Amino acid sequence: MKSTRVALAAFAAVGALTLAACSTAEPGAEETDTEAGEEMTDDGEDSGDEGGDSGDMETLRIGIKFDQPGLGFQDGGDYTGFDVDVALYVTEQLGYSADQIEFVEAPSAQRETMLQNGQVDMIFATYSITDERDEAVDFAGPYFVAGQDLLIRSEDAGTITGPEALDDLNLCSVSGSTSAQRVKDEYAAGANLIEQPGYSECIQFLTGGQVDAVTTDDIILAGLAAAEGSGSLQVVGAPFSEENYGVGLPEGSDLCEDINTAIQAMIDDGAWEAAVTANTDGTGYTPNADLNPPEMRGCAS
Ligand code: GLU
Repeated sequence: MKSTRVALAAFAAVGALTLAACSTAEPGAEETDTEAGEEMTDDGEDSGDEGGDSGDMETLRIGIKFDQPGLGFQDGGDYTGFDVDVALYVTEQLGYSADQIEFVEAPSAQRETMLQNGQVDMIFATYSITDERDEAVDFAGPYFVAGQDLLIRSEDAGTITGPEALDDLNLCSVSGSTSAQRVKDEYAAGANLIEQPGYSECIQFLTGGQVDAVTTDDIILAGLAAAEGSGSLQVVGAPFSEENYGVGLPEGSDLCEDINTAIQAMIDDGAWEAAVTANTDGTGYTPNADLNPPEMRGCAS
C-alpha cells in the first residue's frame, strides 16, 4: 500500500480561520506526563517537556493511532494516513503550521482520558462518535463513516461470512473500541473474545492461528490486510455497523464549529477525496458512497 501524506502545499491557498479562542488556555496549555503513549515531534525527536523549541511558539498535541496503516501510522519520524491528513488540513485551517503539530499516540481505550487530562488537544483516531463517549468528551465532525467488519485468513473465506459465524471461534479486537463487545453482545455470544491494546497485536494472533478473526472498522482492516501483504488475510466485506469518525475534543471546547467548517472545506475543495484515495490505494477498499462524504452533525451549544 502506498502510504501517502497528502501535500500540505495543496491546501495552503485556503485562508486560515481566525482562532482567538484557540491560542489561550486550550491547546497545548498543559504539561502532562504521557503514560498513554510515546510523545514525539513531527520530525521524530523526543520532545521532552520543554514545550517546543522556538520560544513561545504554541504546539498543538494531536492524538492519532500509530499502528493503523492508511489511517494513523508512525514510521520513524513520519506520520501518515487519512486521520493524519485530515488533522493537518483542519489544524492548518485553524491557523497552525505543520511544525506546530505534535502527534501523540492515542490508543483506543485511552482516548477519553487523554482528552480529559489535557494530554492531547484533539484526537483524530478512527474515533467513533457514540452517546456514551459524548458524555465524557465533545466531538466535531464526522469526517468519515466506516462500518464494522471482520478480517479473516483467506483460507477461511466462504466459511466465516459474517459475525454470526463466530460462535465457538476465537475473535480478537481492541480494548476500549466499539468493536470489541458488539460481536459478542449482538451476534455471537459464544465467541471467545480476546482483547488487545492495539490492532497490530490482533494481526499477529490471526496470522499465528490463535484467533479466527479480527473485528473492527472495515477501513482499518483493509489497511492492515494490505500491510500484511501476500493476500493471506482478507476483509469479509459485509459491514454490520455505522462508525462516524469524529474529532475528539475536551468537554466544553469552543473549537467544534471551526473544525466542522474546516472539514467541510476539505470536502468541498477535493482534498478529502484525494486523501481517501491516496490512503486506501492498493487496499481494495471503497468507502460507502451513501454515507461519504459525511454531513456534519452540528455542535452542541
Ligand atoms: N471506530 C471504533 C472506535 O472508535 C473502532 C476503531 C478504534 O478502535 O479506533 O472504537
